[in-house]
Amino acid sequence: MSGFPLPPGATIGILGGGQLGRMLAMAAARLGFDVVILTPEAKSPAARVAARTIIGAYDDPKALRVLAKAAAVVTFEFENVPAGALDRLADLGAEVAPGARPLAIAQDRLQEKTFLNAAGVATVAFAAIDRPEDLVAALKRLGSPLLLKTRHGGYDGKGQAWVTRPEEAAAALAAIGGRPAVAEAPADFRREVAIIAARGRDGEIAVYPLTESHHENGILRRASAPARATPKTLAEAERIAATLLSALDYVGVMGVELFERDDGRLLVNEFAPRVHNTGHWTLDGCQVDQFEQHIRAVAGWPLGPTGATHHVEMTNLLGAEIDNWPRLAREPETRLWLYGKSEARPGRKMGHVNRLGSLSR
Ligand code: AMP
Repeated sequence: MSGFPLPPGATIGILGGGQLGRMLAMAAARLGFDVVILTPEAKSPAARVAARTIIGAYDDPKALRVLAKAAAVVTFEFENVPAGALDRLADLGAEVAPGARPLAIAQDRLQEKTFLNAAGVATVAFAAIDRPEDLVAALKRLGSPLLLKTRHGGYDGKGQAWVTRPEEAAAALAAIGGRPAVAEAPADFRREVAIIAARGRDGEIAVYPLTESHHENGILRRASAPARATPKTLAEAERIAATLLSALDYVGVMGVELFERDDGRLLVNEFAPRVHNTGHWTLDGCQVDQFEQHIRAVAGWPLGPTGATHHVEMTNLLGAEIDNWPRLAREPETRLWLYGKSEARPGRKMGHVNRLGSLSR
């Protein structure tokens, strides 16, 4: 593609103004790029560190025109950006990475699981649910219990309900808003792990060490990496990441959430077509972190090395936990990443800390 690699001084557009956009913007600035953010939020975490912000809805035609004109390439940090906005940007002649297809697939749990299985990647057994009768049939076919999840728009464990008996079907669907859903068999996992990987414009793939992740109430609480795993498991995680990146002709960083079963088998829970919370440890534990890697990929630069330099325990600071910053700032092996959010609502991701250890442990 002409114009790539983008030279320092070029402008990178980001849809979304959250903490992922903020850390992408910081990484981009380090490589000499300017970042322009498009977000509907007046005072977003990313806008505070970006060269320029366009305030507007993601599907506002005027805002998209301004963004397409300003940016040499446009990426996104927010998974619920309408995929149509990426199509519109492409129509306006903008380079978009990753493209609309991976985003559209990841936004629909049914399409996502269908795509994963077709690509040769295992998931839990699942069924499409539109009406209570579908759920009754799924309980018969897949067994009980099942985890009902909305097809669209759910994140951090929201829009989910366990269902055990056919009599509960109607109430469970109502509890998730009566929206189109999927029902999933329990994953029966020993632990949850994640793999962060990148694909460059030339098709080169770079995979990070495996991360072990711990969720509470559907929200990532802690992650530690590099995670111990058998060579077979590591190879399988890398195969899964490479398979998805290639199948989607992907450019950028992707996060893949996995369930590890007792027998070591890996099932994909979901993939995120963006930098991912389970990859925040790379900021202080890897040669080149996931944010710089994403910027390198979308700018058409060579990918950076992904080797670990430290063992890292990453902990999210949720809600009022941000108030512990004075104590955390005194810990010598702790690196603080605070997102500049003014309102500490319960459960809101306000920042994270990376606690460094030696690799030998
Ligand atoms: P999700 O919203 O799909 O990322 O799910 C959030 C969390 O719920 C996961 O990280 C798991 O801890 C749990 N979870 C999701 N799907 C399943 C499943 N099929 N079986 C058991 N636990 C699940």
